[in-house]
Amino acid sequence: MFFSKSKNKGKKAKNRFENIHGTLLSSMALYPFFSNEQQRIICHFVNEFYNGKTVLVSPDIKIEDRETLLMVIAANAALVGGAQQTDYFSSVKWIHICSDDLQVDGDAYETSTVRLSARPCLKESIEITEGQNLIVHEFAHILDHLYGLSGSTAVLREAYEVYLDNIKSQQGDIVPDCATPLGEIVDHVNTHDEIMFHPPEEYFAVLSELFFTNPAAIYNDYPKLYRELVGIYGLHMVEILDGGE
Ligand SMILES: [Zn+2]
Repeated sequence: MFFSKSKNKGKKAKNRFENIHGTLLSSMALYPFFSNEQQRIICHFVNEFYNGKTVLVSPDIKIEDRETLLMVIAANAALVGGAQQTDYFSSVKWIHICSDDLQVDGDAYETSTVRLSARPCLKESIEITEGQNLIVHEFAHILDHLYGLSGSTAVLREAYEVYLDNIKSQQGDIVPDCATPLGEIVDHVNTHDEIMFHPPEEYFAVLSELFFTNPAAIYNDYPKLYRELVGIYGLHMVEILDGGE
């Protein structure tokens, strides 16, 4: 009992979760592709991520899934925030994990709150599906709110124009929309938005999802844009998914 106080002081050194590495090996398809050092950084990020955050988990979610779900959320957030000065996304104070009662799969309020639907979080972490990673999407919104990334460079602005043109002509054949059917992209748009409203912020989040699920599509179609994303996320995702040559 006396030790518990001093242990609290040294809380940062203590692991919040047990066996993060093992859990991520089986619950995060991207994780085994990363180097030992990158994996170590992700595990560290997961341990620190929930300090100062309040997590509200829907009572419908089974207890045995809960720890895995929390680790998976933090680990995918680490991909987005690990290279920038986000301090483990310390601006995010509230994380709501819902069952299936959201109108959308998730949303992000400025820099403080993220709401996520549990099922796609797990599903899109356990398998890599082109253009789909809800956790990456919502934390990309947070990163964008923090740093004003969307539309901040000539390449991102140019790519956004292409994206709008593609939506207009309903061709999904170039970078951001090649993966996600139009209907699914609309699902990610805030409920307040018009159905066809695709602001640069949404483009940035969708593009980030593609970067972590099929980076080669961006690299092949638009190498300059790929390099910008490597600059933002600090990860050469094409090389990583190719086996790290
Ligand atoms: Zn969004």
